[in-house]
Amino acid sequence: MVALAATSALAAGPTDTMGAMPPTDALHPAGRPDLAASPKTVAPSDAVALLAFDRAHVWHPYSSALTPQNPYLVESAHGIRLRLRNRDGEPREVVDAMASWWCAIHGYAVPELDAAARGQLESMSHVMFGGLTHEPAIGLARRLVDLAPAALEHVFLADSGSVSVEVAMKMALQWHLAAGRRRTRFFTIRGGYHGDTFSPMSVTDPVGGMHALFRGVLPEHAFAPRPPGGLDRPPDDPELVSWETETRALYAAHADAVAAVIVEPVLQGAGGMHVYSPHVLAVLHELAHEHGALVIHDEIATGFHRTGPLWAGAGRGNIDPLVDLDPDILCVGKALTGGYLTLAAVLCTRAVAEGVSRGEAGGLMHGPTFMGNPLACAIASANLDLLAARDTEAEVARIERGLAAGLERAASLASVAEVRVLGAVGVVQLREPVRVAQVTAAAIERGVWVRPFRDLVYTMPPYVTSDDDLSLLTAGLVGAVEAVHG
Ligand code: PMP
Repeated sequence: MVALAATSALAAGPTDTMGAMPPTDALHPAGRPDLAASPKTVAPSDAVALLAFDRAHVWHPYSSALTPQNPYLVESAHGIRLRLRNRDGEPREVVDAMASWWCAIHGYAVPELDAAARGQLESMSHVMFGGLTHEPAIGLARRLVDLAPAALEHVFLADSGSVSVEVAMKMALQWHLAAGRRRTRFFTIRGGYHGDTFSPMSVTDPVGGMHALFRGVLPEHAFAPRPPGGLDRPPDDPELVSWETETRALYAAHADAVAAVIVEPVLQGAGGMHVYSPHVLAVLHELAHEHGALVIHDEIATGFHRTGPLWAGAGRGNIDPLVDLDPDILCVGKALTGGYLTLAAVLCTRAVAEGVSRGEAGGLMHGPTFMGNPLACAIASANLDLLAARDTEAEVARIERGLAAGLERAASLASVAEVRVLGAVGVVQLREPVRVAQVTAAAIERGVWVRPFRDLVYTMPPYVTSDDDLSLLTAGLVGAVEAVHG
């Protein structure tokens, strides 16, 4: 991690979660259609009518029907650019700093993914998964088993990140039940985010996760403090030592009831873009193993190289090599289909799968309608093939350097508390809540789409962002922050 200014306090406030390489075109020799020539343009009068209907009838994330958001209309997306309508109705092309909430790792209209979708449509877009199976799901499961840490052999295909966390938690509960243990609590750290359905919300940070709003409905779990920031913080750092002491004591108080530890390895995403030491993971793993609990890694945001290595929970140098940091259960999603369709997966060890299956229920009690959707699976396989074909780790290292260089200037702004970069994640943390509408508009003026939340203006760009576009993107973010917040 590259920290470019002094650490600031933990972000607070309302949640709006809410995701020398060749230039982008060289990565897609087939070329991409020119945006200006895109057939999907919307007449200005139609744009006004569409937006009016949207405001009157359509929910957006975390939105109010009384004071509806004022979203921008997107016409099309190609490469790393969105073509949208500016407030004056004029078309505007912007570089996407968000990769559509961290999913579109190869950008938009990716020829290989388009081809996979078209090819799959020729045979079937969907069939039920109960009693039937198909090559797209089997092929994807095979790829995931190959990519995941060695012991993870069983794959459950879910339809979104939140559902995958539901399934992972259910798996852990059923595993204990099957062994005759009634363990109903989960152990996690504050500041996390695991999704908006009820079980994931119950292990999301109590403040950011709206626990007060849903008191009495949400199950109550055990929350250790948020670990201090910094990937390279040594285990004997006083703040980390005091975190560890408190966490061990809290765990001991709940040990017999804890079914599993659930955690986003190394980077807490929507809970505040908070980077912490792998030593924290080592402590959590050790506690879980010592007390017979499982470990769930939620790599929905961090998986597929977003923080550098394929999995954020593996490949970090400063962990005690004697501690096994492979999870018992792993959740992946977001970038799995390259941002084309919603799909997630839960992988678990043979021991967990067999344990669950020995229980009274006779199997894992989950089975969504769109489980294993062939279209999504075919695109996901093509997406993972693209990841493997490219030197993604080098691509992400290049992005990390570009983000660090481009965001450095923000560290000297009066409004900025900290700038941090990890892999293809760049964060500018302000000293005050972001004026979201103004910063977004100022960034669009500078040719960049960004969606800040709380006190964070951040980017998780597509991995195919060229060096020139990275410069444009970072200059746009820093310029927008400076123009609005000083
Ligand atoms: N876990 C993590 C770590 C996430 O970042 C997210 C989404 N931001 C989720 C779970 C939930 O995924 P989804 O929005 O697909 O339900």
